[in-house]
Amino acid sequence: MMFKQATIAARSELGDDDQYGYIVPPIALSSTYKFADFNTPRVYDYSRRKNPTRDVVQKSLTALEGGVGAIVTSSGMSAIHLLCTTFLLPGDLVIAPHDCYGGTYRLLDSLSQRKAYRVQFVDQTDQQAVVTALSCSPKLIFIETPSNPLLRVVDIANICNIAHEMQSICVVDNTIMSPVLQQPLLLGADLVVHSCTKYLNGHSDLVAGAIIAKDVGILDKILWWGNTLGITCGAFDSYQLLRGIRTLIPRIYQQQDSAQNIFNFLKNQSKVRKLYYPGLVDSCGYQVACKQQKGFGAMLSFEIDGNEIILRQFLSSLKLFTLAESFGGIESLISHPATMTHAGMSLEARKYAGINNMLLRLSVGIEDSSDLIDDLEYAFQKIS
Ligand SMILES: *Cc1c(COP(=O)(O)O)cnc(C)c1O
Repeated sequence: MMFKQATIAARSELGDDDQYGYIVPPIALSSTYKFADFNTPRVYDYSRRKNPTRDVVQKSLTALEGGVGAIVTSSGMSAIHLLCTTFLLPGDLVIAPHDCYGGTYRLLDSLSQRKAYRVQFVDQTDQQAVVTALSCSPKLIFIETPSNPLLRVVDIANICNIAHEMQSICVVDNTIMSPVLQQPLLLGADLVVHSCTKYLNGHSDLVAGAIIAKDVGILDKILWWGNTLGITCGAFDSYQLLRGIRTLIPRIYQQQDSAQNIFNFLKNQSKVRKLYYPGLVDSCGYQVACKQQKGFGAMLSFEIDGNEIILRQFLSSLKLFTLAESFGGIESLISHPATMTHAGMSLEARKYAGINNMLLRLSVGIEDSSDLIDDLEYAFQKIS
């Protein structure tokens, strides 16, 4: 029977134990497993390769994204590194968005400087630039939509179509939407990658990543390299992640509703110079967002009208929005991409990506949205 996402998230492997009848799957901490007999390993032999608790959370993610299998890794970055190692040989080209996550940018840029592969950063909202880049026959194309921190939306189905004509593998970083609001595998992508640190876990208390595949052959290669590199997720974090996923659906919808309220508030703020939100009707990605997303998500970014002194004053006046990196947790956070998440990019790269020094990014949590709006209003009054 095929269940809906909320049921999958809440119930995956719950109450399936025949031995003791426990409801919640246990944390399988053993690093090693007894062989059934000489030269006869069981399904599990060594925890780096395969672990029962990790298997449970991998099954849940596979079902949520509509794939055939998954690997859960030690971080979102190790998942992205694993993809590159699996598919790219020296000389191979990878295409990535010019405004991709700062850590992804740093990884691809640093390893391409060591000649591990070649990388080209492209503005994927520019159809002609995408076609030109894909005509160089890249092995892999990364898509990140909506992008971080400017929440630009690109058309996944369209890019996957062009990429497949060039025999390129399409990977979508689905961290910002989560499978609840966007399912890239159903839109034509070959692979989905996540930083589970964000919405999937949702409680800002672990770092993990995942890759979900649509093809068994590709998945087997990734699993082989995951074990070889030794970057699989530990049992405890796998358990914690599974626990976070149980409440994924209600969290996402609550956070998304609050973000919509905050957007309506920010829209009328005179100190907001520019607003970035996929639900902004006259933004370039709005139509595509309506087509491929089930909602606009719970993040928004805006530029403050003023200078660094005003920006500092605004930030220090906030009580609920905490200045911190990351997003997707139940607590609201605010970040300054130029000095935080995207500090690893050169000034020119930030400029090309449109990341201004006055830009702030909000991750909306599950607090009461009227309290969050009051918090912002107070800080805006302080700088007026
Ligand atoms: C955070 C993030 C990553 C990296 O994940 P970690 O778990 O921090 O290693 C990759 N992509 C996006 C879009 C992210 O937000």
